[in-house]
Amino acid sequence: MFRNVVCGLSLVAIALSTGCQSKPGSVTAKRTVVVWSEGTAPKDVYPNDINGAIAEGLKDLKGWDVVVAGIDGPAQGLPDELLNRADVLIWWGHKRHGEVKDELVNKIVKRVKEDGMGFISLHSSHFAKPNKALMGTACSWGAYVGDSTTLAVHVKDAKHPIAKGVKDFTVEHSERYSDPYAVPTPDSVVFDGVATLKDGKVDPSQVGLAWQIGKGKMFYFQAGHETNPIFYDANVRKIMLNAVQWAAPKK
Ligand code: ZN
Repeated sequence: MFRNVVCGLSLVAIALSTGCQSKPGSVTAKRTVVVWSEGTAPKDVYPNDINGAIAEGLKDLKGWDVVVAGIDGPAQGLPDELLNRADVLIWWGHKRHGEVKDELVNKIVKRVKEDGMGFISLHSSHFAKPNKALMGTACSWGAYVGDSTTLAVHVKDAKHPIAKGVKDFTVEHSERYSDPYAVPTPDSVVFDGVATLKDGKVDPSQVGLAWQIGKGKMFYFQAGHETNPIFYDANVRKIMLNAVQWAAPKK
């Protein structure tokens, strides 16, 4: 009977993902979220990189297998077996976008558009290859300046499932992204926000945007600079929990 038991939270080793398979027809089939990052976040802020911090925040998801993956793993962290059973893929990248193979990007796009896998794209992943391929636009922001102190996040679409139980909050955030964001019109701007700059000025921008892309759901969250530990913040973790459940295909 134990053959049908899928493994639980895999926080540490990327390699764990390969030993953690749900069997076809399993009576205990869990849903799977894969948290991917590129291993470039500073270790003093994110000792287990950003994927580890996000996965830790998802540990209370009942009935979910939470898997961490990274670009240095086999098949750049997403062997077919894992990608094909992922209900949701969370992506954080910054410095290594160019290393991601086009073949993998094509597989991710297919999984989203044709199979309904959810895709959650974070911060500097606006320029990640899968993010750009799914959006089909330049995905540039008006400006990127390291001159902010905080980002106040406002719930703009309170009825959206990703906003459930989330109240307005503020995080320390040292990098400002300025509108406009060159993407297709979202189905919802779930969150917007205001960056406060070191000189006291403010800069409002979109913070959380949601789309339907083919059969799949996609969510982009603007905050998440690697020197700001926001993925340990309870509000951001709540948003990640909600986003995973919203983005998962209905069964
Ligand atoms: Zn950044």
